[in-house]
Amino acid sequence: MPLTSDQYQRYARHLTLPEFGEAGQEKLLKASVLLIGAGGLGSPLALYLAAAGVGRLGIMDFDVVDTSNLQRQVIHRTQDVGRSKAQSAKRAVNDLNPGTVVEVYEEGITSANALEIIAKYDVVIDGTDNFPTRYLVGDACVLLGKVNIYGSIYRFEGQATVFDGRRDAQGKRRGPCYRCLYPEPPPPGEVPSCAEGGVLGVLPGIIALIQATEAIKAITGIGTPLTGRFLRYDALGLTFRELKLRRDPACPVCGDHPTVTKLIDYQQFCGYRPAGAAPEPATAAEMSVAEYAKIRDAGTPHLLLDVREPFELGICQIEGNVNIPLGQLPARLAEIAAWKDKLVVSQCKSGRRSQKAQDILAKHGFTKVSNLTGGILAWADQIDQSLSSY
Ligand code: ZN
Repeated sequence: MPLTSDQYQRYARHLTLPEFGEAGQEKLLKASVLLIGAGGLGSPLALYLAAAGVGRLGIMDFDVVDTSNLQRQVIHRTQDVGRSKAQSAKRAVNDLNPGTVVEVYEEGITSANALEIIAKYDVVIDGTDNFPTRYLVGDACVLLGKVNIYGSIYRFEGQATVFDGRRDAQGKRRGPCYRCLYPEPPPPGEVPSCAEGGVLGVLPGIIALIQATEAIKAITGIGTPLTGRFLRYDALGLTFRELKLRRDPACPVCGDHPTVTKLIDYQQFCGYRPAGAAPEPATAAEMSVAEYAKIRDAGTPHLLLDVREPFELGICQIEGNVNIPLGQLPARLAEIAAWKDKLVVSQCKSGRRSQKAQDILAKHGFTKVSNLTGGILAWADQIDQSLSSY
């Protein structure tokens, strides 16, 4: 379908780009993007994607505009305080580009509505800041084969990557998913939200526009996507760091033999609601990070076994660790056989995988295995603040 004369004028600077041109603009006009959250990330995303000519935008937010939002959620105005965020965003998008169709969802995303809503869009951008939603959106996008463009912000730092759940010509997933990056949720309350920890007002703008760029690239097929690369941005140092991210063949949702084939109860999965009558195993010997710091200070001989994936060690690690990812542990026990009767401290990101490692070691005759409670996140929080959190 040829562009109208108004569209030729409006998108003239795109049409001039040789890599983009009329074909790229037509793809954008036909495309649909679902924005989950009209907050710090969703605000610039909605404005820029509408300005660029995305044909249909879904805006999902159950919240109302608060005065404290205005420091960064630039789509809302002072007179919008108290109004629905989704409606306020729709008003701004309509003013900016009447050609963009806006569909408003004044509700939160849940396991009950996610598949139906996400199925209607080509690209999903999660702008929320809670773990149950991230796992929910991540799983739903894998199940439906959608592109999920990830961004997160905290204080002066932001992160972004693309989880491309589409399949290539050979039927393989194009990239890793959210669970490949974060196999386990952190314990509830361990990772503070922006409401608790604060956020620099301009930070979400940078991350959101990286997400918007990736959305446009995913739709038009130009450039090299951020798939399989995890980008970390530090506003204070003005540095970008990039880590490699691979699809985990053992991933429960996007792996070769998936065990998660439908949406689950993500509140429960993330520990926000007790899982019926299934208590944590009581046999576990736990060690607090404070106790472990004393052991290190005293020079007590021990093995620190870090069972995270190698890329996670690239973000932060405790000196002197031996790294055997949890999935490889049963096959690599011989490497640490000398520690069978000595102190082994099992450690991961937040203490869940390392608890499984502890069980494996106990079954194989290791007698003094302690699980580092709270993992490296607790260590970085309470003992060594120079370490990066993630
Ligand atoms: Zn995965």
